[in-house]
Amino acid sequence: MGWQTSNFLLFLAVTGYGIYLFYKAVYHRYLYLKLGGSADFRQRGEGRWAEFLSQVFTQKKLMKDPKSGLMHIIIFYGFIILQFGALDLIVKGLTGGKHLPIPGYEVFGLMQEVTVVLILVAMGYAAYRRYGEKLTRLKKGWKPSLVILFIFFLMVSVVLTLSFERVWMELSFTGYSPISSFIALALTGISSSTAYGWFMVFWWMHLLILLAFLVYVPQSKHFHIITAPINIWFRRSAPVGRLTKLDLEDEEAESFGVGKIEDFSQKQMLDFYACVECGRCTDVCPASSTGKVLSPMHLITKLRDHMVEKGTAITGKSPWVPHYLFASSGTHALVTEKSDVAWNANESGITNIVPTLDWHKSTWGEQDKKSVELELIGDVITEEEIWSCTTCRNCEDQCPVSNEHVDKIIDLRRHLVLMQGSVPHEGQRAMQNIERQGNPWGLNRNDRATWTGDISGIKVPTVKENPDFEYLFFVGSMGSYDLRSRSISRALARY
Ligand code: SF4
Ligand code: SF4
Repeated sequence: MGWQTSNFLLFLAVTGYGIYLFYKAVYHRYLYLKLGGSADFRQRGEGRWAEFLSQVFTQKKLMKDPKSGLMHIIIFYGFIILQFGALDLIVKGLTGGKHLPIPGYEVFGLMQEVTVVLILVAMGYAAYRRYGEKLTRLKKGWKPSLVILFIFFLMVSVVLTLSFERVWMELSFTGYSPISSFIALALTGISSSTAYGWFMVFWWMHLLILLAFLVYVPQSKHFHIITAPINIWFRRSAPVGRLTKLDLEDEEAESFGVGKIEDFSQKQMLDFYACVECGRCTDVCPASSTGKVLSPMHLITKLRDHMVEKGTAITGKSPWVPHYLFASSGTHALVTEKSDVAWNANESGITNIVPTLDWHKSTWGEQDKKSVELELIGDVITEEEIWSCTTCRNCEDQCPVSNEHVDKIIDLRRHLVLMQGSVPHEGQRAMQNIERQGNPWGLNRNDRATWTGDISGIKVPTVKENPDFEYLFFVGSMGSYDLRSRSISRALARY
């Protein structure tokens, strides 16, 4: 058997194994997601395509922070271009130097080398933001940095493979391949057969890094490469703030709200996989910024880790492949996360997310209970976190992968209120007041329309007096009782 044939067979075996591991990692995660409640994945809405294209291809949300937005755009488009480059390299290694029949191949070569440089600059900037600028919202540690190393060595292997190819094929210097041409000049004197040997070394290095990255993607936050576009496509199309209806009359219902991870819908679970741990949501969250324990990023990542752990226990399928590499760390993702966290604790000011991040760091740890025994509310997410949310949806507005935090928090609250009768003290009083007087402060229900009597010359009709109204001015409790707000209600009625 000749060298080319052996190389080809080895290539098939290694690539096949890599793709098999990738499939396993994705399929097992799909099985965990299937444990969730059904979701209407067929939903469509006006402007879905336009919004989808602008979020995915112009990265609209990421550009709210132009520096990291630009960096991400370079990496995003750079990787698309380099996929063709990788394919071309593979063909060269398997055919003894023949390249893909790409029109304007020299220009393609130039694009490839320029892209490599841009990606290296972008990755350098990514590292600087994490460790130079020390952005509080970004995690530090080996795991979040692994991708920087992956991409760095991937780019190095591309350049070196192309450089040794030039020496091996005795190609002359060209401005279309400036970097590899310069390196090839520096390698002058190496024989063609030696250059071919090094070409194959870096060719294999490139292939192995590519496959390792492929297998690593679904097992890390980089799963968002696959799940984020899907999540953006299936994002909510109903008006922001409209909650899903609860059928309280349903006598068959065993439970209301979300009391265990499987009670979330499959779409809500898809959110967990889409999270890229960028911390943008926590950065803008008024609860996190004022030292409350709620961090929307940790809400999502803790739910994701719990889903993976419990999904593993229920399905018997490990999320980690190849399993022998990860067996020692087990499946307790909360534990593996803990060592990754190192926050910049020097920040101070009126709004400061550091205390919240510190709280999460100190409360993450190995639980005594098995993953199936963990209580979603209590062990994974505390009641304090659940009630800290103001439902402002700032987090959703910033999230680049269209995660929907608030509906999850509302579902957890629904379970607490309807199944456990657990409501914070202030909430209890407000609800009792609403029940008795129809307003949260317990003011006399007969005074609700008092504000209408103070408008000279205008009679404000009520719904009772004019049931066939065309427009309804819903004044609400604040506009009816609060003295300052009453003047706004009057001004609007006069207008
Ligand atoms: S909706 Fe809740 S979690 Fe999101 S930013 Fe507002 S307070 Fe924070
Ligand atoms: S939920 Fe969205 S904004 Fe928050 S960390 Fe994840 S990807 Fe970033």
